Amino acid sequence: MVEGGVRTTQWFRKLTRLRVSEKERRPQRTCLGCGARDDQDRLIRLAVTVDDQLVIERHQGRGGYLHRDPKCHKAFVSRKGLYRAFHVEINRKVKAQFIEQLARRDWE
Ligand SMILES: [Zn+2]
Repeated sequence: MVEGGVRTTQWFRKLTRLRVSEKERRPQRTCLGCGARDDQDRLIRLAVTVDDQLVIERHQGRGGYLHRDPKCHKAFVSRKGLYRAFHVEINRKVKAQFIEQLARRDWE
């Protein structure tokens, strides 16, 4: 009984260590709104389609990242010339429409 308890504790410690190292390895991405770096899973992945529209897309196209914060969304719409990440100029109307879409979306 006692032995089993010790083993569990050791196992639990191992698990905790693992979690910490996973956190350290978490990829960092830059928000296109505020310009800050953050955990990738705290940011929305967006991509530019072939006809220069913006979509929420995790795996395809030239992409960028954005916080879920409306402040970042606003900054993203009003910023100019930041599309080095996309290698394309996205017009403001397209960005505004995209942000509207985000605002309508239910997150949790
Ligand atoms: Zn941001």
